[in-house]
Amino acid sequence: MSDPKNSGKKLLVTAALPYANGHIHIGHLVEYIQTDIWVRFQRLTGRRCIFICADDTHGTAIMIRARQEGRSELELIAQMQAAHEKDFAGFGIQFDHYSSTNSDENYQLCCQIWAKLQSEGLIRQADVEQLFDPQAGTFLADRFVKGTCPVCKSPDEYGDNCSKCSATYSPSDLIDPVSTLSGATPIKKTAKHLFVQLDALRGFLTEWTQSGQHLQPEIANYLKGHFLGKPLRDWDVSRPEPYFGFAIPDSPGNYWYVWFDAPIGYIASTWQWCKLHQENLDDWWKSDQTEIHHFIGKDITYFHTLFWPGVLKSAGYSLPSFVHIHGFLTVDKEKMAKSKGTMIRASKYLELLDPSYLRYYYASKLGSRPEDIDLNLQEFIAKVDSDLVGKVVNLASRTARFVEANGLSVEYPHDGGLFAAGALAGEKIAEAYEQGDYSRAMRLIMELADAANAFVENTAPWTLKKDPGQHVRLQEVCTIVLNLFRQLCVYLTPVLPQLSAQCGKLMNREIVAWNDSQQPLVGTQISKFEHLMQRVDPKKVQQMIDESKEASKSQTLVATPATSAAAPTAPTAVSTSNPGQAPGIEPLVAEPLVAEPLAATCTIEDFAKVDLRVARVIKAEEVPEAKKLVKLTVSLGGDETRTVFAGIKAAYSLEQLQDRLVVIVANLQPRQMKFGLSEGMVTAAGAGGSEVFLLGVDSGAKPGHRVH
Ligand SMILES: [Zn+2]
Repeated sequence: MSDPKNSGKKLLVTAALPYANGHIHIGHLVEYIQTDIWVRFQRLTGRRCIFICADDTHGTAIMIRARQEGRSELELIAQMQAAHEKDFAGFGIQFDHYSSTNSDENYQLCCQIWAKLQSEGLIRQADVEQLFDPQAGTFLADRFVKGTCPVCKSPDEYGDNCSKCSATYSPSDLIDPVSTLSGATPIKKTAKHLFVQLDALRGFLTEWTQSGQHLQPEIANYLKGHFLGKPLRDWDVSRPEPYFGFAIPDSPGNYWYVWFDAPIGYIASTWQWCKLHQENLDDWWKSDQTEIHHFIGKDITYFHTLFWPGVLKSAGYSLPSFVHIHGFLTVDKEKMAKSKGTMIRASKYLELLDPSYLRYYYASKLGSRPEDIDLNLQEFIAKVDSDLVGKVVNLASRTARFVEANGLSVEYPHDGGLFAAGALAGEKIAEAYEQGDYSRAMRLIMELADAANAFVENTAPWTLKKDPGQHVRLQEVCTIVLNLFRQLCVYLTPVLPQLSAQCGKLMNREIVAWNDSQQPLVGTQISKFEHLMQRVDPKKVQQMIDESKEASKSQTLVATPATSAAAPTAPTAVSTSNPGQAPGIEPLVAEPLVAEPLAATCTIEDFAKVDLRVARVIKAEEVPEAKKLVKLTVSLGGDETRTVFAGIKAAYSLEQLQDRLVVIVANLQPRQMKFGLSEGMVTAAGAGGSEVFLLGVDSGAKPGHRVH
């Protein structure tokens, strides 16, 4: 490889530890497939690489669920781990070791690392007043409290932030708070908590995150802009009993918060693997001959790029060489939703569809930047059919049968430079894999496939077959096409290990190395052709959606919040690892329709007259003379701005409006008002007064985007 990142050192790769509170779904799989492809690529090029993972098992959510289900936490997490491992195996995710954070090894490591943090003077103690559920006998994490937002008075909001006005607050600020566990009114109770004083490491963390070596540039900038410019908050890493987790040895009655022991689980799982393989843990976690690569979703950026490097540094472990961060999955441009049937479980997918389809589709979408990716189901069907079945598998199915009897030519025939061009492309394709730019790798591979298919069309082996005088030429053509097919299979091996194995079987030579793409096979026998891959059955795709929808109806607990309270970035779709997640109940209220009945039908042309645009509030100002109005200056991107007066003063403070995205009617005729010219309208829902809810957009949308 020419890539400078390839140092020849051995690699330790991790994917985020899935939380034991839920099943694996297609959103999680983005990361596991992404990581597995990278690992398989590294191995194929001959690098030593181990892939380590585990279930993340601790926390209030597990404790509560076990209680609700009337069984022990241990039984619950064992069952979930087995389910997770089965799903991963079904998708060909090849871990070297898969463990649990609830292990002896993890406890020992937590104790060691904790002692080190203590001796470095990084731990302080303070009293924290928290809400306590007197009926359930437990302190309440923010997500287990609901009540009325203290800012906009919206009812039924969670304890950490308001879904309507985005205000953040602590659960004790809620008006009429209620425990979601028992329905009881929580009481305030004080307990001793332990904090890591992360700011002591800010100098180091600034240097590490901003070095350009360890993070994608977008992530480094995000950390600089959001955290590192001001003192880092002390991090609360303990929870008072009762709590399902590890008891802190020097603090009776306290447990480590799940986010303390979860990343240490990476080391603990490696340790277990070391014990099974007579390896030394220090060779993997304290050696400059090993590169550590974490793959995570952007919702857990803070933990992996600030807290975790800080802990590793203080405790004398190696720092990650690179933290690879990906975006979220949307389905047909929308958040995955159980009600729409798009929150598809891995197990449901496997019942109906070939895992290779999803591996290939995700690979064709994943770039090296932390952007969201969209699963468009029509495109999914079309892409798999046209690329894999139409362009790749097709090469073998149109030629292999013609050489079952005689095998490949003993000398590689003249092919106009096709194989050599494919061999040369290997370096670029490898570079794209190495950089995590799989979509580029897939494009390059499909370009080669196009050239191979043009050759098949031009030489028409099925016509040669009919002419006994052409049997030598037929063998030559098939030798060329099958070698081009095999070259593609080598390049696709990280993504499609199953196809790679089928190719090995067909051509009686297993694909074992990236360099198998550099030399054509000659003189080998060809096995009897067996079907390689089928087209996607659109009915099965629909069945998967329908059955996922039905499954959601039959569940008693609906609507899980998008992510844990502690996650630092605004999640848009689905987090990959989300401790502390609590079930919530979404009320189904129809009253607004009664208050304001649906308008008469309009045509799409009518709607198109209204130019709705995403805009960013760049200035929010008081209008002192007006009771209800605020003056907003919004940007549509570039130099395009509008001044808009909006009647939302009772519902939003100026601070809440500053910098947020809104949807405006951008082509509304300007209107002269007493206070100035209004050049548009900000869209909002609600009855008015303090009950006004601005329309927002999911993250990723940019000022200027039109709403269709
Ligand atoms: Zn609010």
